[in-house]
Amino acid sequence: MNSKLISSRLKFLTFAFLCFSVGAFVLLSLRSFNVTVGPLWTIRIPASRGKILDAQGRLCAYDEFVNVAYLDLDYVRSSNSDRLKPYLGLLLRNFKIEKTAEEVLSSRSRFLRLGEGPSRDEILKLVPTEMLPFVSVELEARRKRFTEFGMDKILGLVIADRAVGGVEEALDAQLRGKRDGKAFLKFSGFVNLLPELVFLRDPVDGKDVRLTIDLDLQRICYEEIVRAKEQNRAVGAGAIVMETKTGKIRAMVTTRNWNDTVLGYIEPGSALKPIVYAIAIESGVLKGNEVFQCTGQIKPVPELDITVRDIDAHGTVDVKEALVHSCNSATIMIARLIKEKIGEEAYYEWLKKFGFGEKTGVEIAGEISGVLRKPSQWSKIDFAMISIGHGIGTPPLQFLAAFNTLANSGKYVRPTIVEENTPVEKRVLSEETSRFIREALQAVVSQGTGKKANVLGVNVAGKTGTAQKLADGKDRYFSIFVGYFPSEDPLYTIMVYVDEPSAGAYLAGEVAAPIFASIVKRLIQLRKEHPLSVTTHAMPDLRGLTLRDALLILQQLGISDVRIEGVGKVSEQYPEPGAIDFKGKTVFLKLQ
Ligand SMILES: [Zn+2]
Repeated sequence: MNSKLISSRLKFLTFAFLCFSVGAFVLLSLRSFNVTVGPLWTIRIPASRGKILDAQGRLCAYDEFVNVAYLDLDYVRSSNSDRLKPYLGLLLRNFKIEKTAEEVLSSRSRFLRLGEGPSRDEILKLVPTEMLPFVSVELEARRKRFTEFGMDKILGLVIADRAVGGVEEALDAQLRGKRDGKAFLKFSGFVNLLPELVFLRDPVDGKDVRLTIDLDLQRICYEEIVRAKEQNRAVGAGAIVMETKTGKIRAMVTTRNWNDTVLGYIEPGSALKPIVYAIAIESGVLKGNEVFQCTGQIKPVPELDITVRDIDAHGTVDVKEALVHSCNSATIMIARLIKEKIGEEAYYEWLKKFGFGEKTGVEIAGEISGVLRKPSQWSKIDFAMISIGHGIGTPPLQFLAAFNTLANSGKYVRPTIVEENTPVEKRVLSEETSRFIREALQAVVSQGTGKKANVLGVNVAGKTGTAQKLADGKDRYFSIFVGYFPSEDPLYTIMVYVDEPSAGAYLAGEVAAPIFASIVKRLIQLRKEHPLSVTTHAMPDLRGLTLRDALLILQQLGISDVRIEGVGKVSEQYPEPGAIDFKGKTVFLKLQ
């Protein structure tokens, strides 16, 4: 077999055997691998799971191979276990297992996991010679993740070879290692058994996935929402940054310990109004030159004794002014026109065109579809309440994608978190309708409820939403700002939300709009090339990685002083994996 085919993983294995040419050990441990004792020996070479990278190619999740030592308890039991007890006790102490030899032997388990380590030599040093025949060391993959800045909620987990949540689960078929490799070794010699490779089948590894997430921006958004949550003494906060034209999600953060941007839903409140106005114009219900009289309150359905109030009596407002001041009365009058002229069924279909009530299809496991009931289930007042963003439940990402249709000249783009994906879009509104709404949304920020979203030097546009939450009689609110910039030709659409602000301010214009402005400012700064510095506590294990991957990790740690020797994959490194004091040191990598 061509020696070039030998993967580094196999090299590592055979190398370890050469070091430990304890004949008895090799022969006897064949038993625990459940293979026939003979001239040939099969070694499994585990296939590795694909890496997950950020948009700039920085590692977010990858497989690291560790050596795990197992004790074959059945075999100990069937041997002279009384004679072995003292050595077994020593073995357990060496691996810091707080059990006695008797306890371990009386358990029902066949194997005992002793521990793991980066090298086989290190592990075997802990095994008394008498116990060597009963211990096997196997190469196992461990998933390493970059969990800072809320990345853990995007990535999901891999536990015991099973993907749970996030991108790991959604793209498991692509990431998963396809087939383990196998090596057949022949042993020769008497005292020292020397392995000789007779056949090799390379493992088929899983495919890498490059995310749209930009770790720099992810960090910025995370810092901003953590600060916003503290300042507002809120129960939670989140933000999503999406590219307006491609639907690529550049950042997705939440302060919760689960990804509520796709797994939870909110009532959008007034942030939904621009979509309702767009529907009214596009479907011909409104021309755009109508005026409405706002007295500060309205009964949506005359025969029902339910009153919806406005913050002020806005007086006579035209369509754009109604949006700029987020007038409830005018919006409900528009909803009535929609109901009269096109009917509830058509209204519902329009909302579905914006993606409400349906999964976006983003590549994150567990996405929910939100709540958009069918008109047959609507009460008499629902058409009006939905128009001001109540009685409709939408996951933040779904809402952002719907709102983005306004920014993107009327085209809905499916959000995605996979960089290679080509944008999937559909036209929902004419460019003319989109332009009309965008002019109003620019005025929301220049003169309306969204003034605090203003950023010096760039035109931004957007909409506030303050939804009252029904919670045990107390006033609780959900504050939203959704906007985009530059408003003349949008690059990014951003949603910010704060759940139950309790430090005084609760209106979205006071709570959410300033966070939007901070993110936009820092995003503009970032686009002018800002270096990234990630803090971590310990030196990562780079062995087994390609030089490129190793350098990417070091780059994330801010280490640029790297000396390299040899070619191939990293076989040795200094400082050692796990070293704490590595900042400012030169890193040596030996490749093989
Ligand atoms: Zn009003």
